[in-house]
Amino acid sequence: MADKVPTLPYFYGNITREDAEDYLRQAGMSDGLYLLRQSRNYLGGFALSVAYNRQCYHYTIEREMNDTYAIAGGKSHRNPIDVIDYHAQESDGLICLLKKPCNRPRGVEPKVGAFEDLKEQLIRQYVKQTWNLQGAALEQAIISQRPQLEKLIATTAHEKMPWFHGSISREESELRLHNSARVNGKFLIRQRDTNGSFALGLLHNGQVMHYRIDKDKAGKLSIPDGKKFDTLWQLVEHYSYKPDGLLRVLTEACPHPDGRPAIPLNHPGRGPASGILSRLKSYSFPKPGQKKHRTSSSPPPYSCESNANPYEKPKAGTDMPMDTEVYESPYADPDELRTTTVDRKQLYLEDGELGSGNFGTVLRGIYKMRKKEKPVAVKILKNEENNEAIKQDMLREAEVMQQLDNPYIVRMIGICEAENLMLVMELAELGPLHKFLQRNKHVSMKNITELVHQVSMGMKYLEEHNFVHRDLAARNVLLVTQHYAKISDFGLSKALEDSDCYKSKGVGKWPVKWYAPECMNFFKFSCKSDVWSFGVLMWEAYSYGQKPYKGMKGNEVIQMIESGQRMAAPVNCPPEMYDLMKKCWTYKVDERPGFVVVEPRLRQYYYDISH
Ligand code: ATP
Repeated sequence: MADKVPTLPYFYGNITREDAEDYLRQAGMSDGLYLLRQSRNYLGGFALSVAYNRQCYHYTIEREMNDTYAIAGGKSHRNPIDVIDYHAQESDGLICLLKKPCNRPRGVEPKVGAFEDLKEQLIRQYVKQTWNLQGAALEQAIISQRPQLEKLIATTAHEKMPWFHGSISREESELRLHNSARVNGKFLIRQRDTNGSFALGLLHNGQVMHYRIDKDKAGKLSIPDGKKFDTLWQLVEHYSYKPDGLLRVLTEACPHPDGRPAIPLNHPGRGPASGILSRLKSYSFPKPGQKKHRTSSSPPPYSCESNANPYEKPKAGTDMPMDTEVYESPYADPDELRTTTVDRKQLYLEDGELGSGNFGTVLRGIYKMRKKEKPVAVKILKNEENNEAIKQDMLREAEVMQQLDNPYIVRMIGICEAENLMLVMELAELGPLHKFLQRNKHVSMKNITELVHQVSMGMKYLEEHNFVHRDLAARNVLLVTQHYAKISDFGLSKALEDSDCYKSKGVGKWPVKWYAPECMNFFKFSCKSDVWSFGVLMWEAYSYGQKPYKGMKGNEVIQMIESGQRMAAPVNCPPEMYDLMKKCWTYKVDERPGFVVVEPRLRQYYYDISH
């Protein structure tokens, strides 16, 4: 819904506060007259400008994690439109009720900020280069990771800006500013330390003025006592439009010795964006393991890369296959203590179960970190006597999850040992895939393919890291949104050490209908047996959550498989997808494809049906 905002008649885009006041004045300043604009200092946020008593009031609508929106300190809503609808009924801290939208005058389109303009292209470039994706997979990754990607791009893009000169000394910055044409307002930003402190050097009447830019505990950047910004980008945009406490506005970037073009700011079509756009071809993003901040003595930070073949398997040990660099866990924050132990005082459990399983129940909770709080899912071990074995199982599950870091796998936040042993995980609000599809028969085949493809990406990651899941089924795929799936339940998972298969000591409470023949016959588990289960999962998904081999007992299923029969295609299942399921149910392990083959097949098919 937030993506509907640009089409709202009362949304003005990236206009300034003063522009907003002008529009409200032109429209008569009646009490409760309001307009919506893009926040110029909070990433992904909006600002609401309201007229009351002939004055203008401005409120920031912040985008919170989980993509909810709230006026600072106020109630969270699903999108900015809901925030407005709510405040049309309840003032709840606002100066007055929102009464009348101040629509854009005829011919006025929402203003596109320089950074907005650029962001999309940088995001695409990033996903292409770092995750090695293209086509539909690229689009999907962008959709599902947008908030994290936007944050990453916005917080690192300055490194390639002509005005960003890295970690040079104060003296060097003065030399650079004096050495080129002495235009008033010429500026550069240098890095002062690795804790996120910068300095702005500004040329004013032949003298260089230095302003500190500090990062506060919440990660916001500001010149002392000045306005706070999420990114250096926004800070530069702001001060290039008004001095707001500086001796003058920023006019043009001081030339960078590496030849980045100096771009005058505030010129139509020649803002910071137009400069970087022309440099996109040579922009290469940091690779996994590389530090984002570099000193001037470190090797050239970025090198140009050729376009890698998206279908090529990444070399082990070099580039991680997917996502691990950019995908920042919603809970990861360098300023938050990253620990796998969760303090009980930080955890608030809510009423109402999300589900239950072998261990006990799963409750919704809130994890309060130092700076923010996040909704979480908490798996609570039931307190029973003699449950040491179950406790060990849960700790093993936590150990496996802790090692996994992929956008299509449910993340573990930590273990909390209190009145019960608790496993704290990121929340996948919409719950298990099969139940979701049972309730939502309108979901399109394309949407199902998108979700199934995401599962295959998560499984490909496990395959590349030598993990076997051993319980892959639609019940263990949880949905964050209708378009974002994550693999969960690592209770049976194993890291394969020297061999490519795990031999179980015996039959446990096994999900027989999802198991490959070699699991049943020889207790052998490998990534290929997960592929078999994936075929069953695909069948479940395309049949909208029906039970596989319905009405059959485990031994009947085994006999059916041994006799060479397979489940029939679900009603309306695309033949290409049924064909892939049957490939996953190849009897002989060696002939069965791995996820390295299955995932691109799904990627290609999804791409074909999307274009
Ligand atoms: P199983 O019987 O499959 O072994 P289990 O004891 O391992 O179950 P889970 O399957 O992990 O437990 O969780 C049980 C249910 O709790 C899930 O089906 C789901 O409805 C809910 N659940 C688990 N984890 C999450 C999560 N991260 N977000 C939302 N809901 C969750």
